[in-house]
Amino acid sequence: MVKVAEKVHITGMTRAGLEELAASFGEPKYRATQVFKAVHERRLRSFDEISDLPKKFRSKLEEIADISRLTVESRYVSTDGTRRYLMKTADGYPVETVFIPSEKRDTICFSSQSGCPLKCDFCLTAKLGLLRNLTPGEIVEQIIIVLNDVYGVGEETPHGTNVVGMGAGEPFLNFENLIVALEIMSDDEGLFIVPNRVTISTAGIVPKIYEFAKLENRPHLAISLSSARDELRDTLMPINKRWDLDELMTAAKEFEGSLRRGERFTFEYVMLGGVNDADADALELARLLDRYQLSRVKVNLIPHNGAEQLDYSTSTPERVERFKAVLESRGVSAYVRQPRGRDIYAACGQLAAKSEPNLVHMMSV
Ligand code: SAH
Repeated sequence: MVKVAEKVHITGMTRAGLEELAASFGEPKYRATQVFKAVHERRLRSFDEISDLPKKFRSKLEEIADISRLTVESRYVSTDGTRRYLMKTADGYPVETVFIPSEKRDTICFSSQSGCPLKCDFCLTAKLGLLRNLTPGEIVEQIIIVLNDVYGVGEETPHGTNVVGMGAGEPFLNFENLIVALEIMSDDEGLFIVPNRVTISTAGIVPKIYEFAKLENRPHLAISLSSARDELRDTLMPINKRWDLDELMTAAKEFEGSLRRGERFTFEYVMLGGVNDADADALELARLLDRYQLSRVKVNLIPHNGAEQLDYSTSTPERVERFKAVLESRGVSAYVRQPRGRDIYAACGQLAAKSEPNLVHMMSV
């Protein structure tokens, strides 16, 4: 049986990679830029639509490559305007992306893996386990699909878009693909979403924090902490057994040294009622930051988003405010992140490929 060579996903190729591909067809460099622009700037979704390419080149491309590898299965719109896209890869794995509008700036939250191998006890995505790493093209395509849906194909975004790597998966366990995707996204002939607009969140894959710190053009970093005590963090986030708080904080301190002028980095802290939200927990957190002399940090408090399969309740708003006040009294900047899209399972830790037809405001696209 003749094996059909697998097609390349052109959306996951850097401009330099496309130039090589074009050259192998005897096509000049500017053709590569033309294709790159068509995919990332004009956000066209098939070769057919790139009508300004010579027919011969277009049909060659069609033979060996495709632009689109994700299909949108369902789209859910929250009462607060948040949108959740449940997509599928060409080989049938779920991918979820969230669009979060706000007055000043809109945010797109992408997934780095289908499912997640980490077993954070309070997170619904963990229940899926790791299905597979997403390719650079599948990461970039999530952004393209959302931009086209929200603003229209190829339309400019009205006030720039922030991108966060906080969807399903652990980005630092798919590091290489993530870095290629970020390079493609930031290209000024394409999406032009520069690293300064991007934040990547990690559960604490320590060696990659060091690597990330060394990147020349790196995005912002957020580290999910959720407890300042090893014993509790071991149960909440079992990755802590691999790299404990001492190793994590030592890496965080090193990362702090890579911050640019005025830049800070973030610790995320999921507020779990009666588990990690006492005044004593806040004091412990302040002491931990102090012990490692971390001063250019802020703490984002995330009220827990519940689900039937999760054994946690969210802290009361009063508790969250009090926790924040204790941190502030110790000189730590703290912010409460407002949950968005809870009604459609789009909020943090809720991405688990849920597709019940009874979710409100469902629309198929
Ligand atoms: N794996 C990465 C990125 C995905 S999780 C990480 O752990 O950072 C993004 C954020 O959502 C993390 O800070 C995580 O702690 C938080 N989170 C997970 N489950 C949650 C839940 N049920 N409610 C609120 N936040 C949650």
